[in-house]
Amino acid sequence: MSINKHFKIIKKAIKKHTQLIDTYFLIKYAFSPYMACEHGCKYCDGRAEKYYVAGDFEKDIIIRKNLPELLSLELKKLREPGLIFIGSGISDAYQPIEKEEKLMREAAKILLKFNFPVAVMTKSSLILRDLDIWSELNKKNGFILMLSLTMLDDKVRNTFEPNASSVEERLETLRKFKEKGIPVGISGMPFIPFITNKEKDLRELLTELKSIPVDFMFYGSLTLRPGCQKQFFMKVIKEKYPNLLQEFKVLYGEDRASGSPLKSYSHEFFNTISKLLMEFEIPTQIPHYLYKGKFSLYDEIFILLNHMTELYKSKGIKINRLLKALKNYSNWILEEKKYFNRRRNLSYELIEDKIRHRFKTGEFNDVLQNEKLFQFLKQIVLEEKTLDYNKLKIV
Ligand code: SF4
Repeated sequence: MSINKHFKIIKKAIKKHTQLIDTYFLIKYAFSPYMACEHGCKYCDGRAEKYYVAGDFEKDIIIRKNLPELLSLELKKLREPGLIFIGSGISDAYQPIEKEEKLMREAAKILLKFNFPVAVMTKSSLILRDLDIWSELNKKNGFILMLSLTMLDDKVRNTFEPNASSVEERLETLRKFKEKGIPVGISGMPFIPFITNKEKDLRELLTELKSIPVDFMFYGSLTLRPGCQKQFFMKVIKEKYPNLLQEFKVLYGEDRASGSPLKSYSHEFFNTISKLLMEFEIPTQIPHYLYKGKFSLYDEIFILLNHMTELYKSKGIKINRLLKALKNYSNWILEEKKYFNRRRNLSYELIEDKIRHRFKTGEFNDVLQNEKLFQFLKQIVLEEKTLDYNKLKIV
């Protein structure tokens, strides 16, 4: 496939989450070497007007040529520890153009000189080219491969993700990373209604993933934002699955701005997949043992509390008191961060020391207003324990 390269000089490489951290992908810092994507997934929301990618989404690729030099400069100035996430919803860092441009290889070499854990999300086995560097970085700071995969049928993959790696190449990539002791997770997004969402297929996929074994799996259903993204996808359905066209029209007939399908469908699908993941004992969040000690203590607590609300909810445990404590904690940490962000000479460790001290004296319960949670977190903070997401037990 011929593409048009558009070289761009950028002013800033790294996007920061300086207030509250993203608790889903655990993004503290993020960057992406390209914009638009040759992988050409038929459902990609990079086609939606909301993201405005100029030109032909699959062919007009923007190359952030000066990214490596900016990275070196910006990494030196980061004031807090945390995960650097490479990827985006509108481009894949290891799309074919990377073979020639090698921006990721350059970036990986630079990242190796610093002390940040890194996660890469991709649909490409090209990342194996850099396994040597990511493996070294994993030993030093921690690395997570987040590979996108929702199906085992390569014909279906070829229809919806034509220029991404084959199913077998992706499974092999997971195996090779795992062989090196590198944590691997699956970005199971999006599962396509009527096509990749059947329980039988999900079981087969999870059996395969469990055999690797993957450390976690996110999941999400297909969203079709009204406009270019939806029109493009519907054309593909009309051509390849004409018998399903009417069902898709009904499912996405509400034309919600978020692109979500009917609520009843989402509810049923999420119910099915979350039960299966529980049965296979595959956590649906990045487990605590993978991020413990890799963030500041205050970010770790924030991530953990957010994950606990989801975990407990999925097990039918009441979470009202937990949510209240989470709100209290969020307000407290936002105030602390406001002060910290305004004063360049302060170290994030001061906030950590404050937390540890208040857990020792018992004062942190004034923040949480939840004695049971306070006692639980005390073990995490002072005794370096972790929460097992499958068993919901402290270990
Ligand atoms: S790999 Fe990701 S960014 Fe690229 S086309 Fe597919 S969904 Fe979009």
